[in-house]
Amino acid sequence: MEDRRKRNRIIRQRIAILGFTTGALSTLVIVLLFVGISKLFAQAGIESGTNANDAYSTSGALLTPEPIKPSEYPKAEGLLRLVNWDNPTDGTRPPNLVLAKAVLGDEIVLQNNETSIDYEAGVALSRMCRAAVADGIQKYVLTSGYRSVDYQKTLWENRLAQDPDYGKDPFTSPVKVMPGNMSEHATGLAVDILNMEHKNANDEYGESMAGLWLAHNAHKYGFILRYPKDKQHITGVIYEPWHFRYVGEEAAEEIYSKGICLEEYLGKERK
Ligand SMILES: [Zn+2]
Repeated sequence: MEDRRKRNRIIRQRIAILGFTTGALSTLVIVLLFVGISKLFAQAGIESGTNANDAYSTSGALLTPEPIKPSEYPKAEGLLRLVNWDNPTDGTRPPNLVLAKAVLGDEIVLQNNETSIDYEAGVALSRMCRAAVADGIQKYVLTSGYRSVDYQKTLWENRLAQDPDYGKDPFTSPVKVMPGNMSEHATGLAVDILNMEHKNANDEYGESMAGLWLAHNAHKYGFILRYPKDKQHITGVIYEPWHFRYVGEEAAEEIYSKGICLEEYLGKERK
């Protein structure tokens, strides 16, 4: 009885060892087969599971992608929103408006504590004004930022009450006040900035230290002088050396260096 049990146990152990060995051998054979097949495919130039558009050449070396030229960068639609005589706004309140006093400090004077501005434009305006003060320029005064279509409509109607022909032919007789739904102040990206030393919105501002500083430095902070003297026939707006528009640093740099206006930059001047 004892012997039989012992023999059975030995048989069971041998079967277990045999089973394990067989399993291990099978796995080894499968692995060897797989490696062999992969090598055959590789020699034939077939790369299993490799996309032809991968950044790897067939030799396995990493390909360096062609550098993109700045002029080919995708243009950020939002910051380049065009609102003018031919492109009215639907009056939707811009999504990123904040109170100007939340992003601006004592580097600039706020004429109105309730003025709102696009957040990114406000941050850039703050940087710009701090740089101007560091350059010895008196503090700028923010006289206008975001304006609702309704508010702009009031300004427009006041003008019309004084002159019923106002804005009839803006490309010959450019305006200072735009109709309710055609002012880019509705984007939150436009600011009117005068200076403690020159508080009048007139041509002379462009010749003042503060106006000259803006004209030559604003692009470094992503702003453009939106209504240049020599583009009134395109913008339909008078020369406004106090009105700056945030478009982002890249577009501002190109617009400034080429001496063009936003309509020309976007290829949307009236033909
Ligand atoms: Zn303005």
